Amino acid sequence: MLEKMGEFKHQKMVDEFESNTKDAGRVQIETLRRILEENGEAEYLQRLGLNGRTDTESFKSCVPLSTHKDLEPYIQRIADGDDSPILTGKPITYISLSSGTTQGRPKFVPFNEELVKNTMQIFRTSFAFRNREFPLENGKALQFIFGSKQFKTKGGLTASTATTNVYRSEQFKNTMKDIQSQCCSPDEVIFGTDFHQSLYCHLLCGLIYCDAVQFISSTFAHTIVRAFQTFEQVWEEICTDIREGVLSSIVTIPSIRAAVSKLLQPNPELANSIYRKCSGLTNWYGVIPELWPNAKYVYGIMTGSMEPYLKKLRHYAGGLPLLSADYGSSEGWIGVNVYPRLQPELVTYVVLPDIGYFEFIPLKEKIDEEVLEKTSSTVAYMESEPVGLTEVKVGEEYEIIVTNFAGLYRYRLGDVVKVMGFHNSSPELQFVCRRSLLLTINIDKNTEKDLQLAVEAASKLLAEKKLEVVDFTSHGDSSTEPGHYVIFLELSGEPDQEVLAECTNCLDQSFIDAGYVSSRKVNAIGPLELRVVQRGTFQKILDHYLGLGGAVSQFKTPRCIGSTNSMVLQILCNNVVKNCFSTSFG
Ligand code: AMP
Repeated sequence: MLEKMGEFKHQKMVDEFESNTKDAGRVQIETLRRILEENGEAEYLQRLGLNGRTDTESFKSCVPLSTHKDLEPYIQRIADGDDSPILTGKPITYISLSSGTTQGRPKFVPFNEELVKNTMQIFRTSFAFRNREFPLENGKALQFIFGSKQFKTKGGLTASTATTNVYRSEQFKNTMKDIQSQCCSPDEVIFGTDFHQSLYCHLLCGLIYCDAVQFISSTFAHTIVRAFQTFEQVWEEICTDIREGVLSSIVTIPSIRAAVSKLLQPNPELANSIYRKCSGLTNWYGVIPELWPNAKYVYGIMTGSMEPYLKKLRHYAGGLPLLSADYGSSEGWIGVNVYPRLQPELVTYVVLPDIGYFEFIPLKEKIDEEVLEKTSSTVAYMESEPVGLTEVKVGEEYEIIVTNFAGLYRYRLGDVVKVMGFHNSSPELQFVCRRSLLLTINIDKNTEKDLQLAVEAASKLLAEKKLEVVDFTSHGDSSTEPGHYVIFLELSGEPDQEVLAECTNCLDQSFIDAGYVSSRKVNAIGPLELRVVQRGTFQKILDHYLGLGGAVSQFKTPRCIGSTNSMVLQILCNNVVKNCFSTSFG
């Protein structure tokens, strides 16, 4: 009976999604009308002279495109306790902290119940599609989720990351029950104040419930990779805990100790089985299905800056399917993955036309004719007027603009997406890159995707020597004359000077953006520098962000470190063990 009710609820989500996407144009007009009606009183809209009008034309002619910088003074007043209708009709009661991995510091973003509702809608919709292809039984989920610190703003509003705001909501717990995704770990672990202790306990709790676990997940896929890299170090300790029924002294936080100890009974049989299984693995290949035999898939955001972790994730997952989760940001959700069988590299996200009003700035590539044949897909962009959701064209790239129920109006999210097709009349978007993450010295422009491709090429050379790239980032160093690219790599072992030199030349040749190639030829950009950093350096960068109030759940390794990010640059530079300059070009 309960099962039937569940199926009915899931089918209802699919039907709703199909109906909304079939009529995406009309739903968009209606959604904008609702947003403007609910927030007509807001000072921001009043000042722009909208005067209560809710139609698309008036909206576009009165309200300019905005960036976070434009909204900062308004958000600051909200954070300082001004509860008049500033950006929204009803006062904002929470502030979200974005991960800050792009700009180097977290941004304040308004957060309200509408965003929680949108999140549940996204979770339920994508689950409904996922569950048709990979049905779950009643069980649990090993979810590597982590709340961040909460603090009060000057005006007394609670500020935390968007994921923490969601995890703390009652709606989240109810939704997780409905979509058979109850976390193995108690709240004390999720909201623990020490990432390393929480991670240890997530792994331990996941093993206590190993037969019940239906899937393994995290918000962004790299957290799962990090979790299993840690598991490689701590698995014997975890076995001892399970054998003896006593939690390791690694875990010192009293609330976590108390909550996890309650779940822990001496279980030598389970401990021996885990020990045997782990000892039998070759280089940890397939550890996930080995230890969680009933898991149906691994789930988390796997596109964009997560792609470089897929190789390692596939290694841990053995043959288990990898399913990419949905597309959103602290500012709001955008799209849902309704084709769960697609390989993560091919995943697209269908925009939900009823969660916000979306516009798209067409981005045309500015191509230098001379090096046209050699040029990759990502070079400098030329912009034109924004178009509506149903007016985008397949094959074209756009920057997304969001208007939503949480006080953002024509807000430039900064993400570049490519339209790959349409689901009914709503576009299917492929994530391309963050627009502001650019490796640049003068006329050259390389995006995080270009960097990823270059590092992939170099990692093939390293693989021949049995070395893996653990993580990477870059910096455009203008302090030298001429300026040059610096690529930081953390490797699984020590490379010799010969392979290092080969990798450096390979990286240099792999940036085929017209501006870079021509600048390198005339030495307007100097030889590329590869700097190898010690093992654990990228963990230090993560710890640095956590110290700023960020959450592991939202962390994305910053791929281009700009001058505003001096602390991260310092961490990298302090940990360099070897470096090398490219010697040949062209
Ligand atoms: P934050 O608000 O700090 O959590 O970061 C949100 C950003 O993460 C988005 O603007 C995207 O750049 C990135 N992001 C979120 N979801 C995805 C996804 N499914 N694929 C690729 N990138 C994503």
